[in-house]
Amino acid sequence: MTNNEKLAQLLFPDITKTPEDYEAVYPPRNLPEGARVTRFAPSPTGYLHMGGFFGALVDILTAQVSGGVSFLRIEDTDKKREIDDGVSAIIKGFDYFGVEFSEGVTGFGTEKGAYGPYTQSKRAEIYQTIAKSLVEKGLAYPCFCTADELTALREKQESDGALIKGYFGKYAKCRDLSFEEQERRIKAGESYVIRLRSSGDENKRIAFDDVIKGKIEMPENTIDEVLLKSDGIPTYHFAHVCDDHFMRTTHVIRGEEWISSVPKHIELFRVCGYKMPKFAHTPQVLKIDEETGDKRKLSKRKDPEAAVGYFVEEGFPKESVLEYLLTLINSNFEDWRRANPKEDISKFPFNLKKMSISGCLFDLIKLNDVSKNVISVMSAAQVYENVAKWSAEFDAEFNKIFTADPAFSTAVLNIDREGPKPRKDIAKWSEVKAFVSYFYNELYTADVKFDEKLSADDIKAILTTYLTVYDPADDKDTWFAKIKEMCEPLGFTPNVKEYKKNPEAFKGHVGDVSGVIRMAVTSRSNTPDLCAIMQLLGKDEVTARINNAIATL
Ligand code: GLU
Repeated sequence: MTNNEKLAQLLFPDITKTPEDYEAVYPPRNLPEGARVTRFAPSPTGYLHMGGFFGALVDILTAQVSGGVSFLRIEDTDKKREIDDGVSAIIKGFDYFGVEFSEGVTGFGTEKGAYGPYTQSKRAEIYQTIAKSLVEKGLAYPCFCTADELTALREKQESDGALIKGYFGKYAKCRDLSFEEQERRIKAGESYVIRLRSSGDENKRIAFDDVIKGKIEMPENTIDEVLLKSDGIPTYHFAHVCDDHFMRTTHVIRGEEWISSVPKHIELFRVCGYKMPKFAHTPQVLKIDEETGDKRKLSKRKDPEAAVGYFVEEGFPKESVLEYLLTLINSNFEDWRRANPKEDISKFPFNLKKMSISGCLFDLIKLNDVSKNVISVMSAAQVYENVAKWSAEFDAEFNKIFTADPAFSTAVLNIDREGPKPRKDIAKWSEVKAFVSYFYNELYTADVKFDEKLSADDIKAILTTYLTVYDPADDKDTWFAKIKEMCEPLGFTPNVKEYKKNPEAFKGHVGDVSGVIRMAVTSRSNTPDLCAIMQLLGKDEVTARINNAIATL
């Protein structure tokens, strides 16, 4: 036995498996040529950030268009960032959007797939087995430095003016301890971490082809990076390399904040003898800061829309959010959509290479517009279902009123819908209550404010005349013909163009007349088709509202 082998045995007496055993447990995947294996790897913080969700969509699409596999791995090695059951909230976010990984964690304590466990805290033995084999080969070593010693090292590097900071070369006190000293200190129960024995050369550079960003060149890693912390838990770097190897990830798609760590990862893949996956670093999700007007990262602290849960609470349909995110993900999505207006998003030929390099601007106003389009082509029954479901969770009072008569509410939603030119007025389910409140007596309070250019007498004349001709059975054409007929005797013109040519000759035009009726019936100056509204409200309600309006004059 060599000293390194003896050291490995001292450090990992309970580890009996070898890396080869795990190679057999997790064989290369049997997938067609070109199929990509991707992963989304959040920490279980109970919070799904829009930037994370955006990245997860990229993972899923990359796998989907190539006939590959995407999986969800929970990276819970940093206990400080974790909250109790921080997984369910993340899964719930994906569920709402109907976004599904092929493998991995599916809930608190549940998972599917043959390359698990997919939660890092359950993979300790794998990391320790690999670390043990690196120690055996002299590629890793125990470091006994205390926090104070590491602080002293940092201070020395400051005063030396060292360009590279960290545990390396001449500063790496424990790199070349004798086996006898290592043995003595381990047996004395001293605390230690396991470090990589880097063979990097600060004068050399490494280069890699990032699938999104193109060729990137950086100095080689020279730091003796910690692989296992003193409690045997791996660092992000080591866990990433072991997991993405044994889970057979082909494309590591992750936020661009990880680019600076790639040299470490390249060295680790090399010393472990693993094939390097492709790296694709996604741009940040940005927004325009309201105060400064500058672009900045979407912030968990400042921006409610940074949390995926915000879109659920506001009631943005999942289709709208996905549709909008795709416009950010691939610049050619909007052209594709114009050419394929009805096609399901999953048919879009997503391409990692068509991602923006610099940053994706998340714009709520644009999302609103996209969402109005998406909702406008839904059937009234679909909108009803969605509003009923959303309000059951977020507005119980409205839910009760809205769902009391489903046929009535569906008819309300069907006004100016399901035709060739549907109204594009609703962007999210939370807006529906305000749009439809005048249909429900529980929600309606009359608040009539007539156009100030009309006198009280003229308004009264319009309303009383209308009551004499009003018939709830009128179809739209008859309804409008009656309003036109009322115009001339009251001093208005049925012809808007004529009014515009000669405004002095009239009190107003047909739009003003119907506007008065609209205000009396709904307390609004703008509504969908008024004839349809009046049909749904019914004769008694319409007559009562008009009489009440007359009484206020
Ligand atoms: N757990 C890492 C994070 O939350 C994931 C980085 C990666 O995807 O490799 O930032």
